[in-house]
Amino acid sequence: MAIKVKTGLESYVDQPRFHFDIYAILEGSQELYFGHETQVNVNLVEKVTVQRHNGEEIEKCYISPTKRRGVERRVLIWAPKANGFLGDAYDCGIPHTCSQAECPICRVFGGLITSAIDVETDDGGTKKRPATTMIGRLTHGGGVAIQPLDPEEKQRAMHPSMLRQQGEETPMPFKREYNEPGLLYPVYNHCLSMTESEFSSVVYAFFGSLARLGAGNPKGVKILDAPLISDNAEPWIVVDRYLAPVGKRPVVSPSITEVEKAKAEFKKAAFSIGGQDQTPAGELTRGNFHRYVGDRAIAKLTDDLERFESEVLNHVDAQADN
Ligand SMILES: [Zn+2]
Repeated sequence: MAIKVKTGLESYVDQPRFHFDIYAILEGSQELYFGHETQVNVNLVEKVTVQRHNGEEIEKCYISPTKRRGVERRVLIWAPKANGFLGDAYDCGIPHTCSQAECPICRVFGGLITSAIDVETDDGGTKKRPATTMIGRLTHGGGVAIQPLDPEEKQRAMHPSMLRQQGEETPMPFKREYNEPGLLYPVYNHCLSMTESEFSSVVYAFFGSLARLGAGNPKGVKILDAPLISDNAEPWIVVDRYLAPVGKRPVVSPSITEVEKAKAEFKKAAFSIGGQDQTPAGELTRGNFHRYVGDRAIAKLTDDLERFESEVLNHVDAQADN
């Protein structure tokens, strides 16, 4: 028997594929809480230790790429379709990722079914899903805050709901750390060989996650607004669409602790292609490499959001399982 060597997505080659990257600097618009992965019950925020280029060791707050990825995936699972949730249309969720080639979530985030499993159907029956591995083509990076500000610890109290109490009910005090407001987090999403349609899922998840990042409440970040191309403030976001990666990547070194230095590094890279500084502009092109910056990047991504809305939210056929 001949062995299988294709990607497994070979039946979806009707549109050209590109690599896509999103580079952005996010700003915490209020306190944020992201639990430390190994200490989920003691209300400490996640931090990373950074060895600076000068040898100094510092701690920084962190929005880990894996947490961002989880929030983004849920944004897609719970995306509103005409007749329900997007995840329900494909019987796709967490931890069960449907791993169907047709699923707009698994096709980009990947999926895993470790052994054949029965899934309940709407009519009360069951259907089989085979063991499947689907490699995600979306990867996440960054998230280390620029400023080395320590988290602040606050005393909180859970109050019982009764207006009048008699007896034992008392407020339950607890302490929780928070990331300070105004911290800046450079983040990066990378997409390997995707069609414009597939990339639209990534864009919808990225924008949808911004208001929902954080554990518990409060939540939310925004894309930093500041002068970038001209003296006018615009969002600090760069989007690349290309075959060969000829643009310098606007990635901020975690070693940097000064906001102005970090912004200068991001900006210099954003306007550097093929090792040459470019005149700052909203759109830079070299051959098949296209870079969109600031407001122009938002305009490009808005087209993708509208594509997702019309192609996925309103036009998903009855699920294509089996
Ligand atoms: Zn799925």
